[in-house]
Amino acid sequence: MTKEDEIPDWVGALEFYDKYDPKEILGRGVSSVVRRCVDKRTSQDYAVKVIDITPSDKMTPQEIEEIRDSTVKEIDILKKVYGQENIIQLKDCYESKAFFFLVFDLMKRGELFDYLTEKVTLSEKETRKIMRALLEVVQFLHSQNIVHRDLKPENILLDDDMNIKLTDFGFSVQIQPGQTLNEVCGTPGYLAPEIIECSMDPNHAGYGTAVDLWSSGVIMYTLLAGSPPFWHRKQMLMLRMILAGKYEFSSPEWDDRSDTVKDLISRMLVVDPQKRYTALDALNHPFFQQYVVAEVRHFSPYRKFKVICMTVLATMRIYCNYRRAKPVTKEVIKSDPYAVKPIRKLIDACAFKIYGHWVKKGQTQNRAALFENTPKAILLSLAAEQEESPLHTW
Ligand code: ADP
Ligand code: MG
Repeated sequence: MTKEDEIPDWVGALEFYDKYDPKEILGRGVSSVVRRCVDKRTSQDYAVKVIDITPSDKMTPQEIEEIRDSTVKEIDILKKVYGQENIIQLKDCYESKAFFFLVFDLMKRGELFDYLTEKVTLSEKETRKIMRALLEVVQFLHSQNIVHRDLKPENILLDDDMNIKLTDFGFSVQIQPGQTLNEVCGTPGYLAPEIIECSMDPNHAGYGTAVDLWSSGVIMYTLLAGSPPFWHRKQMLMLRMILAGKYEFSSPEWDDRSDTVKDLISRMLVVDPQKRYTALDALNHPFFQQYVVAEVRHFSPYRKFKVICMTVLATMRIYCNYRRAKPVTKEVIKSDPYAVKPIRKLIDACAFKIYGHWVKKGQTQNRAALFENTPKAILLSLAAEQEESPLHTW
């Protein structure tokens, strides 16, 4: 008798329902639903990812087998990365013939995507904290030859202290040193150029860990600008922009950002994967360097005099700028409201408040449309969405 014959199909499911009470839905994927669940014994909250592999008309037996294989791989990788600080921890896992149940720590604050939608853009300081943690995780994964392949703000969760937890290892794969991949997978706006090239050229040399650094660059850009670097209503044109590495630090979103942060992004969004920064290169970039200088201050008349001079000069400059500044009149606001920074921020925040649900995944990447700030652009985007079948994750 084989092991499969001994264990009834539903044993895994029964064990799960014995221990946990499933509650409301937290998120959905192509073949999974994530719900809050409660441990019946301890009353502790968790999140359970339920992967449905029930034979149905919607999926061919081959597709079901593929999902089963990829889930087994996902569990295997989750076990390998268990205990890493900024990676979600798999607490429990159950398998039956029709379902997988993966139990994780519950991240009550949800996705970085939703946090960004609420905030519209993040400061350089907050971006530094998030990106440092993300790049440290990526560096760890790459040191184990694991490629995540689906880095995006929807797959980065936030814990109670606003620390990130990387999740969704559904596309992750552990490769042999030097091995390359050819499979086309990921999410369109975050795809590295070499992955798109693989889809066009069957003889392509393949891609490796560098694809995660491209996606990290896209994430970093999006956190600071509020909209992604590569976006077009027509997906084909967006893929062309990625292939050419065509993006801009456009005004006004980037006017107040430092050259250091732009430099780092431009070293991650490099089309040639050989020339692209590695996670370690990125972590060693000046953007992440903080110089803490322990200073012992003694009284110095010279320094005191210098401080007084600088204070007078600064006051003069503020006064002159104030005199020179044009008042914000009704006319200015009417003719070009977006040129006035506080009003610009207000417009963006209002747009995200009203359309926040609409930028959410499930739509093509239309976050950028909200920054175009013309009703026509938004309508065009809606029309394009109805035309094209949405392609989220390959
Ligand atoms: P998929 O592979 O289907 O994309 P994910 O693992 O990314 O599945 O989960 C889908 C969504 O469910 C996430 O984007 C997130 O919103 C939510 N989610 C997943 N895990 C958790 C968790 N541990 N805590 C809270 N929400 C979660
Ligand atoms: Mg996901």
